[in-house]
Amino acid sequence: MPREILDIPLANGAPGSRRSVRMIRYGAADTRPKAYIHAALHADEAPGLLVAHHLVEALDAADMRGEVRGQIVVVPYANPLGLAQFVNGDHLGRFDLASGRNFNRHWPALGKELTSRLAGRLGNDREENVVLIRRAIRDLLEERRGGLEVDSLYTTLAREAFDSDLVLDLHCDDEGLMHMFAQPEIAADLTDVAAELGCRAVFSQPASGGSTFAEACVEPWLKIAASFPDKPVPTACIAATVELRGFIDIDDELAVGDIAALMNSLRRRGYLAGPARPSPAPLCDVTGFDACDIVRTPVFGIIVYRTELGETVTDGQPIADIVNPHGIGEEARITVRARTDGVVVTRRLKKLVAANQVIAKVAGARALAHRKGYLLED
Ligand SMILES: [Zn+2]
Repeated sequence: MPREILDIPLANGAPGSRRSVRMIRYGAADTRPKAYIHAALHADEAPGLLVAHHLVEALDAADMRGEVRGQIVVVPYANPLGLAQFVNGDHLGRFDLASGRNFNRHWPALGKELTSRLAGRLGNDREENVVLIRRAIRDLLEERRGGLEVDSLYTTLAREAFDSDLVLDLHCDDEGLMHMFAQPEIAADLTDVAAELGCRAVFSQPASGGSTFAEACVEPWLKIAASFPDKPVPTACIAATVELRGFIDIDDELAVGDIAALMNSLRRRGYLAGPARPSPAPLCDVTGFDACDIVRTPVFGIIVYRTELGETVTDGQPIADIVNPHGIGEEARITVRARTDGVVVTRRLKKLVAANQVIAKVAGARALAHRKGYLLED
């Protein structure tokens, strides 16, 4: 079946400014397994836009060769609201300017409502339960109307993604190496994708209440399984937040390499016909995100880095100096140090920072005492 292009209108926009989300579907809408891949939910994170562009080309070619076996949905730009947010010439794509909401937070945790709806309805057949739960997810999202235009964006994406088997949410960091976030319950299922992409860190990040898009995709399955322990309920959706390096790491060569990785992962999982080449050896272990030192500057100033991206550092090693433009001589400069042994996986692109802003992430191996509670950045 030829691929289908859907332009789904968003509701509740201002008069005269109707927006839509484009989805490109390979395989029929009821075919399994179903993969969902979208780009730039944080709309300023452009590497995913180029990767999605190349992914559509690669999937078109695979489709022409008759290789599509499952269903693959590509959303080449997930966030038309954020894409349009140019303010005085600068693009601001992380937060919705209308509501102040971070576009990758406050995704709905459907598990509780689904649990009450499914009480007494699940049986002893695992596959039948999966079908029943997916239908309940779709029905619940179908009922969700109203709210802001950004709410319409959320439900439009969720309706397509939440019933998928595999979800990849393509982001990027500021200046960064390829890395990935996944919940501990499913991180092991994604190690081949991480290895294919050449991830230098895979962070196992416990759910924080259905907050991020990827968490919200998985949350219903974990919640329902915990609520009905005597019924077979698999985690039928695995989802990852993929950080495609940094903001400026955009070129065709990188994107084509990433597409080879994604296409091989899809082939291995039966979405595409033909043998997949063996997965390469992973470049890192899965580590807890609470083992990642989020290095912040205590003061306003200019960052002068003393470590490179990808450098292995030790506890106490200087990451950067922060130079306060108000100070004179040595008093102007303070040193910020790593608080763990690990690899510098991100740095900041723009070097002027306010107090408490993140200037680096160091992926370590052991949980850090100062990293408790809610772990994600704003
Ligand atoms: Zn992001």
